[in-house]
Amino acid sequence: MVSLDRRQLLTLAGGLGAAAFSGGLLSGCRSSGGATTLPGIGDAMATRIDYGRAKAVPTICFGCTTHCGVIGWVQDGRVRQIEGNPKDPNTEGAICGKAQGVIQATYDPQRVVYPLKRVGKRGEGKWRRATWEEAMTEIGGKLKTLRDEGRPEELVFHYGRDKTKGFTSRWTDAFGTPNRLNRRSICSSNRRVPLMSMYGREFEWESQDLERTNYVVNFGGNPMEAYQGGLFMIRRLMDARVDRGAKLVTFEVRPSATASISDEFHTVHPASDGAIAMAMAHVILREGLQDTAFWNTWANVDLDTIREQVKDYTPEWAEGVSGVPADDIARIAVEFAKAAPACCTMSNRGSAKHYNGVQADRAIRMLDVLVGNVGKPGGFCLSTLRMWKNRYGQWGLPVIDQPGPKPSKPKPWRPGTREFEMLPADVQERVAAFPEMWQKKYFGELATPSEYPLSWHWYNMRVGQLVYPYIREGRQKVGAYISYTLGAAFGYPEANVAREVLMDEKLVPLHVAIDISYSEQAALADWILPDATALERWDAHSTNNYGLRPYTGIRQPLVEPLGEARPAQIILRDLARAIGGGMEDHFDFEDLEDYYREWYAEVPGDWETLKREGIWTDPERPLDHELYLREVPAEELVNHSVDPETKIVTADKGSKRVAVGIELDGKIVRGFDTPTRRITVQEPLYPLAAAHVGLPLDDINALELPTWGPVPEHVDLAEDRFVLTTFKWNVHTQGRSAGWKYSSEIVHTNPVFMNPKTARTLGLDEGDEVTLTVFRPAQHTYRAGEDEPVGTFTQRVRLLERVHPKVVAVSHHMGHWEQGNVARADMETPSKGEAGFGAECDADVTDRVWWSKKRGGSGGGRHLNDALPINPTPLVGGQSWFDNVVAIEKA
Ligand code: SF4
Repeated sequence: MVSLDRRQLLTLAGGLGAAAFSGGLLSGCRSSGGATTLPGIGDAMATRIDYGRAKAVPTICFGCTTHCGVIGWVQDGRVRQIEGNPKDPNTEGAICGKAQGVIQATYDPQRVVYPLKRVGKRGEGKWRRATWEEAMTEIGGKLKTLRDEGRPEELVFHYGRDKTKGFTSRWTDAFGTPNRLNRRSICSSNRRVPLMSMYGREFEWESQDLERTNYVVNFGGNPMEAYQGGLFMIRRLMDARVDRGAKLVTFEVRPSATASISDEFHTVHPASDGAIAMAMAHVILREGLQDTAFWNTWANVDLDTIREQVKDYTPEWAEGVSGVPADDIARIAVEFAKAAPACCTMSNRGSAKHYNGVQADRAIRMLDVLVGNVGKPGGFCLSTLRMWKNRYGQWGLPVIDQPGPKPSKPKPWRPGTREFEMLPADVQERVAAFPEMWQKKYFGELATPSEYPLSWHWYNMRVGQLVYPYIREGRQKVGAYISYTLGAAFGYPEANVAREVLMDEKLVPLHVAIDISYSEQAALADWILPDATALERWDAHSTNNYGLRPYTGIRQPLVEPLGEARPAQIILRDLARAIGGGMEDHFDFEDLEDYYREWYAEVPGDWETLKREGIWTDPERPLDHELYLREVPAEELVNHSVDPETKIVTADKGSKRVAVGIELDGKIVRGFDTPTRRITVQEPLYPLAAAHVGLPLDDINALELPTWGPVPEHVDLAEDRFVLTTFKWNVHTQGRSAGWKYSSEIVHTNPVFMNPKTARTLGLDEGDEVTLTVFRPAQHTYRAGEDEPVGTFTQRVRLLERVHPKVVAVSHHMGHWEQGNVARADMETPSKGEAGFGAECDADVTDRVWWSKKRGGSGGGRHLNDALPINPTPLVGGQSWFDNVVAIEKA
């Protein structure tokens, strides 16, 4: 056995990959010093595409979560170029610059392409190449033991980006663990909850009709840089602005790319979006500009109650909170309401990732209900979204569902069950006091943390940033941990906690990483199983549609996986077979294409056409305007009855009685996916959840109606304290793209953006080095109120007008210490002539990282995330990324 350190591992990843492909794929790649080389993107780009010979294959990009339909050009067995697929109704053929990064990720000479087994201490960076057979036997054997011993819940499957559309949940269900964890709290849970609480589970994401809109009020949304669906949105919005003079108004704490191209950009105090929205509601009602008929028909609370609720939220009051002049707030409210129904709100993490973010988004969403633009052309639309939500065919769409036999779901951890009895006493007490609706959904503290019941009320969004502290505290025992494309050890708040827990073999006896690159997370594994990239695999595809016409598509392999990499579905299938005990019955397929063909059996047209076109849609289908007014078809009205008071219509569905619609003007229409079939502006779940977790009922987060309250630690912020906000760049996909050479050549560092006035006050100038010390939040969150700072980091100042004077802004996905030369910007290994491989394949990666310190450059930026506090918003658990209070000192 030969043991290798990280330096040699990267060598291995490249060199051995080459050995396996020395025939076909390596035709254009030279070797050096006798070693065969792995094909690198630099080499792939060296010759022009010959469109006469190249083959165009449609697929779905996975450069980010927008998931655009694209066409890959393949020549000589290698993907050369990505273009847009004009058949994708969301993009209509547009793509962004990051799409080419997927090619680079595929041909990265430092990519992991063989199963690797740790041979040193965990985290020491010593590995050896293993066979798949050995990996499956050893890992499968250990997982089998957990299952055979009746403790399957000790397996934790934690993913970062899982777009297998239910394949991994099939696997964890078959294994018997509820612990399929995600990163939704890091990302979008705070903005999904307001939508689901108002419109129901079906509508967790909106599809504003930007193509037809005349007016958009944007509360911190940033589709020009980083927004799920941003490309779809901004293209439509730009068309509307050019064609009809539609207006975009943005409230932001810094001049983001979206703020900068807006017709109006107002710099606001952090976490004041909800205050502005409440004041706009005040003005709309004061001026009588509301759509009373719409409100009275569809809102679950009367207008007088809302008038009372917003009466003190005047524009003058909001000016004091946000810094936006009262006259502007009032004018924008009037312009917005007068543009109705062809107007809409827009918001994303900018408004939602705060202590008060859930309430802020509720207030913002209430504006749409007030002016009656919901579902209207040019308004705030809720499309039928993912065809995957359409399991019952209720929208007249083909049902797209995985082939059987499906495993049953794990059973909830009710009082009296073995799993429940193993929980800490205080947790048992809290859960036992929960209402029945939550007891039926409770699966332990990792999957359904009892202190955050609204993170799993509608569906399991989890609170990923608490997983590691909870494991360390012993809230749940872990027998094995699988990281699937997860970057917690780098990108989570207090990422050092994730690393400490993953390093501890008593807490995590087995850690398996399924990944493409040698990430910081994978570096702490016992096994690394190499996944196929988006260009080498099959995946089902669905996303919300901004064209308001449902569609689906298929991700298909353009080339074979490099080296011995395998698609995650094959890795999981083989693990299921190694574990056995009936688990393998749910993975009874040999060929992934056959599996997906069966999965798509109900999609009209034949499979070959879908593969050729990449996308299926029904061009004759009416657009998804006013879905709530669609009549419920007769076949759904089995033994139906209408409640005389609420007008809710219930009917038989199999053995159950379910609500199917609401009676309106003598017709039975769909309504919304809520208990009342109306829009839940007044939501009793918030105070209910607060009462059960001990949050004071007068806290901002516990109130039934939309409201606004400050972030506790921002109140009376001292003169020498500032709010640190983080952001993402448009050429990067968080930390995942740091190894993409073109993206990193454009953006490879993360200065501290600061208003020049602030800099003057602090005696700072452009380029000065400063140290930021980050403090813990004040209340109702993880380790709240502790005096000890969370951490510090040092970086250079960059002066930028129109950053809020009390804000500093730093992007938070730089400063890698793994993931290859480009991500680390250190050209440490392999370097040309030293390792004797790879260099000739892509000298860009090995020798031309001009921003490396070795070359006198700035290096790869600073890692921030150890210094950012774990800070879940009460009840929902979304990370309050933008509330950080910092002190700034010249370094
Ligand atoms: S927006 Fe995302 S999915 Fe679309 S082309 Fe760019 S990287 Fe790919």
